[in-house]
Amino acid sequence: MPDRFRDVLVVDLLGGLGDLCMVLPSVHALARRNPGAALRVLTHAPGDALLRTDPAVSEVVRAAKGHERAAVVAELDRRRPDLVVCTTRYDGIAEEIESRGMRSVTDLWRRPPADEPVARRYWRILAAEGLVDGAYRPPALHLTAAERRAGAAALHRLAPTGAPVVLVPEAGMAVKRWPHWRALAEELARAGAPALVVGERDPAPEWAAGLARPVPPTDLRSLAALFAAVDGRGGAVVGPDTGPVRVAAAVGARTVGLFGPTLAARYGLDAPAVDLQGLPGCPHRRPTAITEQVCWWEARCPLSPEGPACMADIGPDAVGAALSAAIGVTTSPADA
Ligand code: SF4
Repeated sequence: MPDRFRDVLVVDLLGGLGDLCMVLPSVHALARRNPGAALRVLTHAPGDALLRTDPAVSEVVRAAKGHERAAVVAELDRRRPDLVVCTTRYDGIAEEIESRGMRSVTDLWRRPPADEPVARRYWRILAAEGLVDGAYRPPALHLTAAERRAGAAALHRLAPTGAPVVLVPEAGMAVKRWPHWRALAEELARAGAPALVVGERDPAPEWAAGLARPVPPTDLRSLAALFAAVDGRGGAVVGPDTGPVRVAAAVGARTVGLFGPTLAARYGLDAPAVDLQGLPGCPHRRPTAITEQVCWWEARCPLSPEGPACMADIGPDAVGAALSAAIGVTTSPADA
């Protein structure tokens, strides 16, 4: 008889939006397996907002940065769950959970295969432990009908016609910066494809002037709704291995991911995403220990004094070809 639980706590305090997206298949599989159970998610802002209307999640609890262990203790004390699934081990969080004696899975990073995507790996470990069943389903975010309408209206104001291509240049870390945004934007302009640029900074980057229309700063759910609308218009989202691109994929948008220091086989998105890998043979890449890569924290690439060689290796023409395959936009390089 498989295990069923009435009160499930999922803890994701790794700190990134992308990390939260990668645990969603497990959250939803736990909800399907335990119908009627209370399912809490403890995570950071701003990702917590993304789960606000998720029908599978009965409560989202926000942990303050720097106080993660205290937040875990508070949730365990507030109401004792009968199952805890936790992506996070630092600061004694895993030991704290294990000490409480309920069923728990606290080592979702055990023996990670280099070629298995993280989200699938989480799900597969839970399946191996008998905690989820059925087929793996990719990350999915829930938006209300009103949010989807607002997203479509916002997109119409920015790009009234055509299949928009949304550029997400902000990389979060210097090692994930892609140096060819201007060239791609020029290709899109030549192709007549409406281009938008999303960023946390206002104004938009200089290279975007006259080439890509800035998306005004907005909250995360509204951005997710805009991405959903992009999909509704047959468009796509382009960006490095970052949270916003994962959010776009999780609301159904086609994405073209630019993978440099991270290995697409390990960090790539589910189909129909197209993941482009720069310098796949780089000997310094450590797919299962990325934070120990020589280049990770300060973007010092042993292969190039000019910056991450893997990111530079992904040419704008390759991205244009991926967009062409994904959504039919036909770009042409400058010298074509
Ligand atoms: S060493 Fe250079 S080329 Fe290799 S993964 Fe790091 S940044 Fe990319």
